[in-house]
Amino acid sequence: MVRGVVPRQPAKTGRHEGARKPLSRPKATPPSTPKKGARPVAKVKAAKTSGGKPPAGYDPVVPERVREILKRLDERYPGVTCALNHESAWELLVSTILSAQCTDARVNMVTPVIFAKYPTPADFARLKPEQLEPDIRSTGFFRNKSRSIVGAAKVVMERHGGQVPDTMEELLEIPGVARKTANVVLGTWFKKAVGVVVDTHVHRISRRLELTRNDDPPKIEQDLMKVIPQEKWIDFAHQVIHHGRALCVARMPRCADCPLENICHAADKTWSTVEVHKNARP
Ligand code: SF4
Repeated sequence: MVRGVVPRQPAKTGRHEGARKPLSRPKATPPSTPKKGARPVAKVKAAKTSGGKPPAGYDPVVPERVREILKRLDERYPGVTCALNHESAWELLVSTILSAQCTDARVNMVTPVIFAKYPTPADFARLKPEQLEPDIRSTGFFRNKSRSIVGAAKVVMERHGGQVPDTMEELLEIPGVARKTANVVLGTWFKKAVGVVVDTHVHRISRRLELTRNDDPPKIEQDLMKVIPQEKWIDFAHQVIHHGRALCVARMPRCADCPLENICHAADKTWSTVEVHKNARP
């Protein structure tokens, strides 16, 4: 130690000698432009004080509003399609069965492995479900999914000569196939608009946009089929699914960036320039 330099001791006052006062934080000033995700309190309050009820005569499914929603989705998501990688109707059918309660990205990791091992429906039909389970385990619900896929392969082989059928009635007879899967295969592979795919995103966003008040996928599909022109059924579902991933997520939707913002009255908006409607919620 250098001579004459005494180690510092704690001050008797309890405050360290020479210690600086903590810098006081500058008071936050409200931003002049809305921050992404910020909630415009005044407007949401105003909506609440009016009871969150739509004004008398408001009809969320008038053709002009529906047309505007479709137009904006077209502009924002041009040319989008199914995110499940596939090269045949059979691969799309298997991928869609695997995508239940699982992300498309995860399914896209699993399918190259299983289609390399079992290239045709005939290969799957020869399997016992237990043989497929290890390969699809990471997609969740793998026991049910294995049973469905092997069962589907058997039906495709025995009743349809190895070809996936292209009608709703026949698809619905395949194990593991309900309307959502059938609509994905019919719309994406066969380009047939027989119905509207109602997955978790379409379910949530259709309710936020007040295109339906139902909570049951088959009823939601019927409502959407009534208000959306048939030639848009396939694109609408693809676009809404993309919208649900990109902006209109389940929690904290990114309303400040949304092209539908000023025609959306969802009760759980995170930013709104229009009144919110208390029943317009997922
Ligand atoms: S404004 Fe918000 S809630 Fe409405 S569709 Fe857009 S992201 Fe979803």
